This record gives sequence, C-alpha cells and structure tokens, in this order.
Amino acid sequence: MKNFTVETDSDGIALITWDMPEKSMNVIDATVMDELEALIEQVESDDSIKGAVITSGKKAFGAGADLTMLQSMLGTYAEEKSKDAQKAMAMLYEASSRLSLALRRLETGRKAWVAAINGTALGGCFEIALACHARVLSDDESITLGLPEAKVGLLPGGGGTQRIARLVNPQDGVQMLLQGKNQRPKKAKQLNLVHEIVPAAELIERSMQLIRDGLKPAAPWDQKGFKAPLNLWSPTGMQMLAAGNAILRKESYGNYPNAINIMKCVYEGLQLPMDTALKVEARYFAHTLTTPEARAMVRSLFINMQELNKGARRPDVETASIKKVGVIGAGFMGAGIAYVTAKAGMEVVLIDRDQEAAEKGKSYSEGLLDKAIKHRHSTEEKKQALLNLITATTDYDKLNDCDLIVEAVFEDKAIKKTVTEQTDAATADSCIFASNTSTIPISDLAKASKNPEKFIGIHFFSPVDKMMLVEIIMGEQTGDEALAMAVDYVMAIKKTPIVVNDSRGFYVNRCVMRYLSEAWNMLIEGVPVPMIDNVAKMAGMPVGPLTLNDAVAIDLSQKVIKQTIADLGEGAEDPRHIALINTLVDDHGRLGKKVGKGFYDYPPKPAKAALWPELKELYPQLSADDVLVQDLKDRYLYTIAMEAARTVEEGVVSDIREADVGAILGFGFAPYTGGPLSFIDETGLENFRLRAEELAKKYGSHFAPTPLINEMAANGDTFYNRFANDQAA
Ligand code: NAD
Repeated sequence: MKNFTVETDSDGIALITWDMPEKSMNVIDATVMDELEALIEQVESDDSIKGAVITSGKKAFGAGADLTMLQSMLGTYAEEKSKDAQKAMAMLYEASSRLSLALRRLETGRKAWVAAINGTALGGCFEIALACHARVLSDDESITLGLPEAKVGLLPGGGGTQRIARLVNPQDGVQMLLQGKNQRPKKAKQLNLVHEIVPAAELIERSMQLIRDGLKPAAPWDQKGFKAPLNLWSPTGMQMLAAGNAILRKESYGNYPNAINIMKCVYEGLQLPMDTALKVEARYFAHTLTTPEARAMVRSLFINMQELNKGARRPDVETASIKKVGVIGAGFMGAGIAYVTAKAGMEVVLIDRDQEAAEKGKSYSEGLLDKAIKHRHSTEEKKQALLNLITATTDYDKLNDCDLIVEAVFEDKAIKKTVTEQTDAATADSCIFASNTSTIPISDLAKASKNPEKFIGIHFFSPVDKMMLVEIIMGEQTGDEALAMAVDYVMAIKKTPIVVNDSRGFYVNRCVMRYLSEAWNMLIEGVPVPMIDNVAKMAGMPVGPLTLNDAVAIDLSQKVIKQTIADLGEGAEDPRHIALINTLVDDHGRLGKKVGKGFYDYPPKPAKAALWPELKELYPQLSADDVLVQDLKDRYLYTIAMEAARTVEEGVVSDIREADVGAILGFGFAPYTGGPLSFIDETGLENFRLRAEELAKKYGSHFAPTPLINEMAANGDTFYNRFANDQAA
C-alpha cells in the first residue's frame, strides 16, 4: 500500500500507520479511500488479527478529505447531469457515501479498532477516529479535534453528524457541527469525544493494551439499552430543537443550506437506527454538495484560499529570509503589526516620535499576551520571549540591519515622505519598504523613496491580530523582489495575502465604500433606520454597514470624502453624502464608536448599543410596507459585486480568486456566495445584468452594468471560465 503500513505483533494486534508520501499532511483522497476499504476488509477477514490500532506517521493525525477530490466529483456530476440527471445524482450519492459505508463496516465488524490520535484530527480524518471503538489522545495542548466542514458550506458526511449527536451533549454537539468548531484535548475529553488522554510516548502501547484487555468491537449505539444524550421526545429535547432552529434562523437567515441540512441530519438521524441514520446523512451530504453555496464556498474558502496561503502570487525570485522588521509608527496599527511580527518569531524595531509612544505600542503586545495567559493560550515564558523580540525606540539607526520596514505613521503624505527619507538614510539598499497607508496611492508615496522598485504597500486590516487578510499593493515601479518579500512576510505571519494594483482605496476599501455609501443612500431615502443594518445581515453580511461605519469611525469617512474631493474635484462625491457625514461629525460630534456615539449610541456596558433616535428625524421616514426587502438585500450585494467587477475591468485585481477571498476575509462579504465574483457567476451573467439594470433605474446609475458585465452576459461567459484558466482556480 502506498499510504499505510501494517505491522501485526505477536498478540495479533495490527498497528496501521497512515503516512502519505510527498504530502505534509494526511488527507483522504481517492487512493486513501481504496486502501482504507482494503485495510478494513483485511483486518476483518484475517483471523490472525485480533484488532487494529490506527495512527499517523506525521505530526498531525489528518486534515480531512481532499476537497479537490470533491471538486472533481462535482465536475463529473455536472457533466453527467446534463445527460441524465437521475443517474448523475445516483453516482454522486454513491461516490460521496463511500467513507461513511467503509467506516460503518469498520464499526460493525468483528474486530476492535482503536484510534491512537497523535496529533490534530479534522474532518473526515476525525470521522475515522469517531468510528473506532475507542479513541486515545496524545497529551498535547496544541492538538485540535473537530469537524470544520460547516465552514466551507459542507457537512460531515462520514458519519460525523450521527456519531457526534450520539456522543456529545446536544447543545455542544450541535454547535460543534454548525460552527465547525475545533476542540482542544481537555474539552474533547469533557465532551466525550475521546476516551483517554495519555502521554505521547505511551499512546500506541496504551491503545494496544485496550485491545489486549478485550475492548468490545461494538459502538455504544449498537448495544442494547443505548440512550442518546438528546431524547427528542423529552421536554428538553423539544425545547432544544425549537430553540436551535430559531437561533440558526436568526444567525444565518436561511442562507446556508448545509446548516439547515445539519439540523435535519441530527433531528431525523436521532429517531432512526444507526444504519438508516447514516443513509439519511449521506443523502443530505449529497444534496449539500449540489448546492451553489457549497460549490462556491469550497472553491473560495478552501481551494483558492489555500493556494493564496501557499504563495500563489509570489514571483519566482530569490529573497533573503526575513529576520528583522522595522515598524514605524507605534499607534493603533503599528502596535498590532509589531505583535503579529514578533509572534511569528521575527525581531521587531518599533519606532515612534518619542520613547513613551514607542513603549506604549510595545505594551499593546503585553496586554494581548496577558489576556492569552489568562485564557491559558500562552505562558509567562512565551510572553517574555515575544517581548524580548520587540525593541521600542526613537532611533532610526536601529533599523540598519532590517530586511523589511512597515510604515504605519499618520495618514499624511508629508509625514510619510519624511519618514521614508529618514528610513532610506538608515537602511541598506536591499531593504524593502512597505507602507500601510489605507488611502494614498503607493506610486505617489514611492516618489519619496530612493528605491521605488523596493517600495510596496502592505495594507493590514484592524484589529491586526484578528483579521486574516493582508492586501499587498503594487506601485507603478514596484519590483518582483519587493513583492516576493511582501508575500513571504504575510505568509510568515500566517495571514492570507492578496496582491492588487494601485488604485484609490485599492481593492477591499473600494468595495467597503460601496457598502457604506449604499447604507447612506438608504438612510437619505428614508428607509426605516433599523432595516438598514438588519437587511444587510439578512443578505449575509456579518456586520451591518452603520455598525461597521461606527467601528471604523465616521470622521475617517469624512477624511476620505475630503481627500477624494481634493484629488478629483467636487463632482467626485455625492453632495447628499457630504451633507449626511458633515451633519453627524461637525454638528453632532458623532465620530463613531470610539467616542461612544455614531449612528448608534454606545452606553457603558452592560447596556446595549441602540440606534441614535434622532437619525430618523434627519430624513422623512418611509413606512416599512413601502420598502422592498429583496431590493435592499440586492442593493448591498449588487453594488459591491459591481465594484469588484470594475476592479477586474480596470486591472486593479488581476487574479479573480483574490477578489473573492479578499472580500470575504476583508469585510465578510456574504460568505455563502463564495465572494462577489462567484456571486455574479452563480446568479448567471445575464440574470445579474438584468437585475442590475432594474436596480439602476430605481436606485441610481451606480448599479448600471459595466461594459465587461454586458459583454460577458452577451457571450454567456462567467468570471471563473474566462479568467481562471491562467490562475488555476
Ligand atoms: P495612529 O494615529 O493610531 O498611529 C500613528 C502613529 O504614528 C502614532 O503613534 C504617531 O505618534 C506615530 N507617528 C507620527 N509621525 C511619526 C513619525 N514621524 N515618526 C514615527 N512615528 C510617527 O494611526 P493608525 O490608525 O495606526 O494608522 C496608521 C496608518 O495605518 C495610517 O496610514 C492609516 O491610514 C493606516 N491604516 C489604518 C487602519 C485603521 O483601521 N486604523 C487600517 C489600515 C491602515
């Protein structure tokens, strides 16, 4: 066998070690499936084998199913569907239930199986462990166990929904399935996911001993008298499911078919014996696979994101490894950048105008680490080691041996120019200089540099330690070395890089501005104020635009508007928007959450934020009956999607995978769509064009289809057909 080795000891216990050659992680692909089925048969039929222990030869136990295999399965399904829909579905059902059937065979066979979980086990790999008759876990706090399928629009199809529902208390179990939440060892034991936690060195021996001691080859649910933790017919069971459905509805507005199917699997499955319950799960799994949501989410949030995380956009040039990074400006962003850089093991020189400001920036890391220690995610030693990597100073000479500089001083061209010149004087020619500007074109800032080809944008999102996206911006003269180092740096700090060309607002903020300004339009039209954020959430946005605007600051919107007018002239901004923002900021001091008042009032906790009552006095209110909810939902999705299409058309975005991934990670664009370009593709170009024209007639010319959309609609094209060939998406 290619992926597994089997050694049987004198007691007849087979030790099966899974170690895929040429892969850093074990995953379930077609060959593994074939071999796993053969192994299960071998253990079952070989009378000299008493039982089997399955473990991994790698650091982790396994990462789950190879989703590219699922993608190709869906390709075959789509092809077959056009010829014979029924046959296509039958083929998909058969292919997608293979793991489930094999594991049921393992579970109901004559031999005892133990999973010796030596490292992280996720998705299908954890489902293998769940089907074993005992699970022994290595005592290592860094291990996580879980079924993250829900995060990519899927559901666990290898028996996961049924075994979790029979093992774990209902509240935690359903949440684990719906949120795809991973568990650390201690919690996993509490939840009944594993039987024992033992020191790593004893893992295999202990697992074998369980078989020697006569472990029964039968799952609890296959034994007489089994009671699942959730009795559907008890008062708690009734309440749990009603409340669970209501919470799901409130949180996802029915946008995620996989989540609804997970609930159905649990509800229906718990009323059935295991074999039938697994068939129910298999049907919902196959159905989920055929939904556009699953297709788009797997592509954007798994395949494309993984490729970008592996440096798909890195040019093939040699660069020095990054050992030392200078961060200039120890304010809100600089402090966060210093933290994530040191956390990745790089030395940081953190500079500000005076020592106090520099130290304050460093103390931000201390605060985060203290919190992590409190939650047992870090230790005092790790904290000291990280803080030792950060030198807080005002001295530019300390930058002399830095490989990379990230500038995060005030958003002011003149200050940034001075800082660039001072840094150039202190650093080697090979040093790459990156600006974290959010609005100033990189090519403009690069004019201050002695080396414009070494000048690039590395645009973080706040809060830096939480946001997973970093936008890399190419100036007109930025060279490959700068890009390679920027991509290396973003990968080193374990975030996802997207690479875009210079443009006002780059990519992500251009889309965000559309989102906010559509909310301003609605406010001005008199759409009942509470509907503005609520409908955005119904459309799938995690944060409503007014809440988002408060969080990023309304005076920042005012600054952006002023700068745009200064650069492009009066006509560049809608006078109604200017009036709205000026009224809030200048007349009422409503600068946003930071001052406790913006579109919302933020009273001290525990009181909750509430919309500023006077907002509805500013504009005459329509009645809710006069507003079409579907129109409001579409306005958000279409205005952002159209902007994303524009960035492709203008060459700001040159890789469509990045437009989709960037919008989801950058500001949470309705994840079930797979991103704005996937949204257009799944809607169909002609449908999208027609609806956009309709919206343009009713709500303004910014909805009018762009020439590219018109052309693609006329040719029956899609973004992923047309642009993905050269990007392997
Ligand atoms: P901030 O005001 O919190 O911090 C700026 C820091 O720069 C201050 O500590 C200031 O003392 C320091 N500084 C100013 N002049 C300096 C000089 N000559 N030398 C050294 N230090 C100097 O601002 P911020 O929110 O951290 O923003 C910093 C940059 O990041 C801006 O370019 C901003 O556009 C960009 N940015 C901000 C956000 C955000 O959400 N705040 C997001 C992305 C990018």
